[in-house]
Amino acid sequence: MVKAAVKRVVKRLIDNRLVYYRVAKGPTSVLLTFDDGPHPEITPKVLDLLDEHGAKAVFFVIGAHAEKEPELVREIHRRGHCIGNHTYSHLNDYRDGAYSIKQYVGEIVRCQQLIREISGAETSLFRPPRGEINLKTLYATKRTGHRLIHWSLEGGEWADRENESGAFIADFVVRTVQPRDIVLLHDDNEKTVEVLQTLLPRAAELRLDLCRNSLVNA
Ligand SMILES: [Zn+2]
Repeated sequence: MVKAAVKRVVKRLIDNRLVYYRVAKGPTSVLLTFDDGPHPEITPKVLDLLDEHGAKAVFFVIGAHAEKEPELVREIHRRGHCIGNHTYSHLNDYRDGAYSIKQYVGEIVRCQQLIREISGAETSLFRPPRGEINLKTLYATKRTGHRLIHWSLEGGEWADRENESGAFIADFVVRTVQPRDIVLLHDDNEKTVEVLQTLLPRAAELRLDLCRNSLVNA
């Protein structure tokens, strides 16, 4: 009973666009997003590949990783990508058990401060670890002045397709991608480099616009 009521409230909030599953505009726009970095070896390769193909992306960094790799955070910003907030320690119900709202808000704020101190970038983009959407994550997003950016298509290099090759995953993304999709990949996963090596040239052939659009710039 209570669960059903909570679900109804969450649905209403989602319908009110508190959660972004797709980019706002652009008939051929696709937004690439990378979670869980920065990673000392993989993130530089991802950045070089994006540059090579003139693509822009959003990097949802974990605060603790940003602290260890400040130069990479600055590099992401310098190369014209957007930095998003992915909490300080990747806090999630699955790993950490139930967290309090206070704890969750604290995680977002700590990551936000780090991003600002390290790169000077201000971000309003937040992605909850594991894509957890519940009343606590929604409240914390709103309370800290962020927008909750989910995804509509995931490479699955860390989950369903972890045993597949990067080329297979790239092919899967190309076959299923729709205009305005938000694509989830991870820049702490070596396979992502392989995915991009195939995906980026094919996206260009398909004339997909991999530049950030109004969702990010607004
Ligand atoms: Zn994550």
